[in-house]
Amino acid sequence: MISALMPNYNRANVSFEHGQGAYLFDEAGRRYLDFGAGIATSSLGHGHPHLVKAIAEQAAKVIHVSNLYRVKQAERLAARFVETSFADSVFFCNSGAEANEGLVKAMRKTHADASHPERTRVICFEGAFHGRTLAMISATGNPKYLAGFGKPVEGFDHVAFNDIEAVRGAIGPETAGVLVEPVQGEGGVRPADLQFLRDLRALCDETGILLGFDEVQSGMGRSGKLFAHEWALVTPDVVSLAKGIGGGFPMAAVLAKEKVAKALVPGSHGTTFGGGPLACAAGNAVLDVILADGFLDQIQETAAYLRAGLEALVAAHGDVFTGVRGMGLLLGLKCTPPNGDVQNAALAHGLLTVAAGDNVLRLAPPLIIGQAECDEALELLGEVAEQMAAKTEAAAK
Ligand SMILES: *Cc1c(COP(=O)(O)O)cnc(C)c1O
Repeated sequence: MISALMPNYNRANVSFEHGQGAYLFDEAGRRYLDFGAGIATSSLGHGHPHLVKAIAEQAAKVIHVSNLYRVKQAERLAARFVETSFADSVFFCNSGAEANEGLVKAMRKTHADASHPERTRVICFEGAFHGRTLAMISATGNPKYLAGFGKPVEGFDHVAFNDIEAVRGAIGPETAGVLVEPVQGEGGVRPADLQFLRDLRALCDETGILLGFDEVQSGMGRSGKLFAHEWALVTPDVVSLAKGIGGGFPMAAVLAKEKVAKALVPGSHGTTFGGGPLACAAGNAVLDVILADGFLDQIQETAAYLRAGLEALVAAHGDVFTGVRGMGLLLGLKCTPPNGDVQNAALAHGLLTVAAGDNVLRLAPPLIIGQAECDEALELLGEVAEQMAAKTEAAAK
């Protein structure tokens, strides 16, 4: 008989009872070092007192009111994003896929309002991941996610990642914009070349199309800056955020320049839960921590330390791990054995990681970790590598 929960996930047979900092504890009290952070989402780790307090206090006051009324927590959070980013205006919603839907709708509407309703197509990239709605599996373009769900939704063209000439060749009279992840997360922790992002900006300006960044995974401090695109010194027209924005509380956002944001007039777009008092209290609390003096610098330092340790791991265990990639605290280890096997072995050693595309083991720890947690993760990964190598050797005999 089918399980009460639909069978759409391959879950590991472990369930966590509580968490503290970078650690989760299962029902038997066993401790796990969380270098997955619920897929790059629990940005402040577990049980962060500032976040817990903000959520608890807001829940006791009012949880939901709808967007029929002003929401002060949302106004404050939006103003803080405007102050600290390229954006002039912000739309709040509930998931990465929903943010990308809003981003694409805003792109299309911007052109429609400028008397170019034919400009509807968005150029996306091989290896991309933009979410699981009908339109976003088409934006993603990966046959693995499209199979069984009918004809792909029209309007998405795919070209090679980091190939500016391929983008140029794909731009036509119906192109509305480009949507790219500054670091492809699900696709295998592949960063875009910073020069590619700058070239995209120039190409979009030249051709009158919009530049959108999907920072659902790379944003909110994970790269060591608030947004990964800041490393390229590029100003986008529109950006989607989710994952880390609520520190694990479900929340997402579309950040936009005025020329894009003004297309979303009353009635054109909406969402019942988006930008509610509870989610925005969580968002404000997360931003308090990320924008505190020195926090982003601390991430950069910790990330450099972790990366150096991973490079050393590759040097010592080249038979299992063949390279390090990524940015900030979104790092990937290219594996020789199947990455799922490595992920399971790490779990058995008490280390949580996340598999990504291209046979990469993804490390996306909470942003609050320090060198001690990195040392522990590196030691566990060393043990995992030795075990995997021993297994491969035994199998070869
Ligand atoms: C996770 C992810 C999404 C989808 O987010 P959901 O909240 O699962 O809808 C979209 N884009 C990127 C880059 C992601 O990592």
